[in-house]
Amino acid sequence: MSESVLIIGGGVCGIQAALDLGDKGMHVYMVEKEPSIGGRMALLDKVFPTNDCSICILAPKMITCFNHPNVDVITCAEVEGLTGKAGAFKVKVHKNARYVDEDKCTGCDACTQACALAGRIPDEWNQNFSTRGAAYIPFMQAVPRVAIIDKERCLLLSRGKCKSQCVEACQRGAIDFKQKDQTVTLDVGAVIVATGLDMYDPTPVTEYGYGRFDNVIHSMEYERLINASGPTGGHLKRRSDDERPRRIAYIQCVGARDVRSGHPYCCSVCCMYATKDSMLAYMHHDDTENIIFYTDLRAFGRGFDEYIKRGVDEYGITYVRARPGEVTEDPETKNLYVWYDDTESGGVKSMEVDMVVLSTAFVPPPGISALGKALGVKMDEFDFFKASDDLLAPMDTNVPGIYIAGACTRPMDVTDAVTQGGGAADRAAQAINDFVGKTSAKAGSVR
Ligand SMILES: Cc1cc2nc3c(=O)[nH]c(=O)nc-3n(C[C@H](O)[C@H](O)[C@H](O)COP(=O)(O)OP(=O)(O)OC[C@H]3O[C@@H](n4cnc5c(N)ncnc54)[C@H](O)[C@@H]3O)c2cc1C
Ligand code: SF4
Ligand code: SF4
Repeated sequence: MSESVLIIGGGVCGIQAALDLGDKGMHVYMVEKEPSIGGRMALLDKVFPTNDCSICILAPKMITCFNHPNVDVITCAEVEGLTGKAGAFKVKVHKNARYVDEDKCTGCDACTQACALAGRIPDEWNQNFSTRGAAYIPFMQAVPRVAIIDKERCLLLSRGKCKSQCVEACQRGAIDFKQKDQTVTLDVGAVIVATGLDMYDPTPVTEYGYGRFDNVIHSMEYERLINASGPTGGHLKRRSDDERPRRIAYIQCVGARDVRSGHPYCCSVCCMYATKDSMLAYMHHDDTENIIFYTDLRAFGRGFDEYIKRGVDEYGITYVRARPGEVTEDPETKNLYVWYDDTESGGVKSMEVDMVVLSTAFVPPPGISALGKALGVKMDEFDFFKASDDLLAPMDTNVPGIYIAGACTRPMDVTDAVTQGGGAADRAAQAINDFVGKTSAKAGSVR
């Protein structure tokens, strides 16, 4: 029997669940596959519908979660298997070696600067718009703020050949190339799955030229470019010439609501974040023209319609109801032409723009079905975790004691992910209390 709860995934949803459970006095293990907690929200510049700074809201929660006396965060880790039943699960967790002692590292950055490969590896955090070394700290506000060595790229680990300047630079003796992967077994009474979302790679939607045309980017690339702590210090620039785009087109539902991509569902968030992105471009330079090509405007949440209205009235956003057929490029200027059938006024038209931003589908993270299998939890046809009843028990699964929350259940925004995190925490706490109650009643009857 265990009164601990395991949370898989340390995005905003998992963090909310951990804080709620920790504050109730329950013990939490949080298993996060990346070297830092934070999830997608840590990548964003601002968040609709308030346009608040995303990391300013999230960072205090990340730190409180990590330092909470009732929460143990295990990073670089994934769940491999689960046995037992509600109240008494045994969970096998695989923790990848960081090659840096988390207790000794102060996050001073000396190793990252000294690394033989510093500045030579594309930085995936910044969508490859900047570079890092093999020793690196994932991002400025990472929690824990601890360096990690990239096993595949490090010259010593991959080729056995490096003077290991990182080791010399570290005054704390924190770098430890002898560290090995570990497997640990956790005893928990309940599990919350909060593994969130990934984004569809728009390369197969060849008609929009992603990967072929420099100035066609996707929305996560846009988030990093417009972010003050991003690769350009928040200056939105075209890849082709570093110039500021003055006219930007946003194409909605790329790979979403599209049977060809295998993702026929609506991503529910993209109409709103494209509006936010347009507002941000305008806030930076109020002569920027923003045009959103949408399928239907799905502004379903509280205050969302008003947000769109503000977009039109205060930020001059133009919404065009059309699903563009093609984007072409002027090879000289690298400007783009968006070709579309205007469903309102009728007829095929084209519009010249400086940049195209593709709002791509939300998809489950790669390899997530293996986790579903390990837990015995049912998934839907798209690999989102399936609730036992969407209407009446949206956080329950087919396995008693295992709950689901956030964007691993369907595409959703931060508000919904936080609400579900809180809800799943309550369900897990209730399950453990019921179990403890039943166990002590049984013990009482024996006595
Ligand atoms: C481009 C873009 C812009 C957006 N803009 C907004 C906005 O303005 N406002 C808004 O409200 N929402 C916005 N969203 C949506 C928002 O990002 C999500 O609602 C939110 O991140 C969902 O939180 P989550 O915790 O459920 O999932 P995530 O943030 O995806 O976190 C999941 C966590 O689980 C971890 N994980 C995954 N698999 C495993 C595993 N097998 N084992 C362990 N850990 C695992 C991940 O590494 C991650 O840390 C935007 C999304 C995108 C893509
Ligand atoms: S061993 Fe060399 S390549 Fe590897 S992290 Fe250290 S300095 Fe960088
Ligand atoms: S490993 Fe050492 S040098 Fe690198 S960030 Fe940590 S304390 Fe600094």
